Amino acid sequence: MIDVAANLAAARSRVDAACRRVGRDPREVELLPVSKTHGAEAIRAAHAAGYRRFGESKPQEVVAKAAELAGLGLEWVVIGHVQTNKARVVAEIADEFQALDSLKLAEALDRRLVSLGRRLPVLVQVNSSGEATKGGFAPGEVPSAVRVLRAFEGLEVRGLMTLAANTPDHGAVRACFATMTAVQARLRDEHGGGFDALSMGMSGDYELAIEGGSTCVRLGTSIFGARDA
Ligand SMILES: *Cc1c(COP(=O)(O)O)cnc(C)c1O
Repeated sequence: MIDVAANLAAARSRVDAACRRVGRDPREVELLPVSKTHGAEAIRAAHAAGYRRFGESKPQEVVAKAAELAGLGLEWVVIGHVQTNKARVVAEIADEFQALDSLKLAEALDRRLVSLGRRLPVLVQVNSSGEATKGGFAPGEVPSAVRVLRAFEGLEVRGLMTLAANTPDHGAVRACFATMTAVQARLRDEHGGGFDALSMGMSGDYELAIEGGSTCVRLGTSIFGARDA
């Protein structure tokens, strides 16, 4: 049996300890439980432990879970790649979208958001490792993309998100996080601040991510156990 509450408590103390190691205030770092593929019971357990924002990859899965768990006041953070034809669902149901990875998707989302009269907090996904299998804007493309994104009324660009290289080489993982803070610094220079959110770190690398400046760690496996393939 997976003890979700115990896993959350253990992960939270590791988050806090990582913050202290680098002199950061633990309140700067959100632990976002990633509930994709896990059922309503797992989410109820995390909610009972004090969590109400959940990371999900697929818009259709959010629709189903939001219906099943209506009344708990949960917020849904979409963290996975979204096809343009799913923009409407995301515009309707997401409380935050962390995987904005193309201007085409931004345009589709914005159109839906404006017609709903909504403004959606978004993070721009950056391919910090350069791996062809990973989504996101190349680091060098981000400043020009952000200039375009800031003109969209329905989108509120709060910061950046990444998946670091999946490797045991800590140096390579840290380099991904350093790329992110460098991109953030460029954006802050150009726009006079902002872009505070840095969503980076998963079950395998979240302590390194916090040491590298993360403000949101997305934890699936370490909270809810392994996902079925
Ligand atoms: C699934 C997923 C996670 C969680 O990964 P774990 O390794 O299970 O913690 C984090 N971020 C994104 C974008 C994901 O798709």
